[in-house]
Amino acid sequence: MSMRSFCCGWCFALAFALILTGGCKKEETPQAAEKAPEAAPVKAAEEAAEAAPEPAALTSAMDDRVKAILAKADALDGNEDHVVNKCAACVFAMDGKPEHMHEVMGYKMHFCSEDCKKAYAEGDAKKLILALKVPEVPTP
Ligand SMILES: [Zn+2]
Repeated sequence: MSMRSFCCGWCFALAFALILTGGCKKEETPQAAEKAPEAAPVKAAEEAAEAAPEPAALTSAMDDRVKAILAKADALDGNEDHVVNKCAACVFAMDGKPEHMHEVMGYKMHFCSEDCKKAYAEGDAKKLILALKVPEVPTP
């Protein structure tokens, strides 16, 4: 007897709580929607000013420079095929090998050894490329 009434009490309380929370949510939603337009744009603008524009612009500018350097390194072998044949880690003094390949921004960089490749594959390849000095392509 007592177990039964206990269970029923719980069931009733649970159902009541569900109705209550359901009712609360319905009441809160329109209020929040009314308040939102005033608060949201200010917050979004603050967040954008603090974080978003600068790093994004920097990254794309950096990517452009990385791509330009890769294109120049790609052209070193006289063949613009998105394959950098010379070992970038050896400042293009050594011939790279396809088995030591690391791809950066669509360019397949061939390195002369696994150690040279590691520097790019495990490090910040874009930073390393930005620091590269690509020799001028000898014009025939
Ligand atoms: Zn090398």
